[in-house]
Amino acid sequence: MLKHIGNTLIRKYHRASCHCGAVVLQIHLPQGMPAPHHCGCSFCKRKGAVGATIASSNLRIVQGEESLTMYKFGQEIAEHFFCRNCGIHTHHRRGTNRAEFGFNVGCLEGVNPFDLENVPVEDGGQWQIP
Ligand SMILES: [Zn+2]
Ligand SMILES: [Zn+2]
Repeated sequence: MLKHIGNTLIRKYHRASCHCGAVVLQIHLPQGMPAPHHCGCSFCKRKGAVGATIASSNLRIVQGEESLTMYKFGQEIAEHFFCRNCGIHTHHRRGTNRAEFGFNVGCLEGVNPFDLENVPVEDGGQWQIP
């Protein structure tokens, strides 16, 4: 668990937002930041965001639920949420564990994901066409 990203202290609660600000999430990180990673799937190779995985109970939509829209592909198990206004992916319900969310580390306010070095790419399964 990371306690800092760059000079930014990882607190127990962080706000996360899309680019236009319509969608605001609260991310609860009781032990720190779980391993940031890239997912190597056919969707994430396009998206390029740094993600981290948390229990779904540790993500709360504070504002803008009506601005979120959802994309599914392949076996349509994972649910990828993004802002319908600015297009930013905020979080997804994981296909491999529906009790977990992955969230976009770049959406955390005050956190610069480019301060992370050597972000690993995790196996996201076989590339799929929609
Ligand atoms: Zn937005
Ligand atoms: Zn992926």
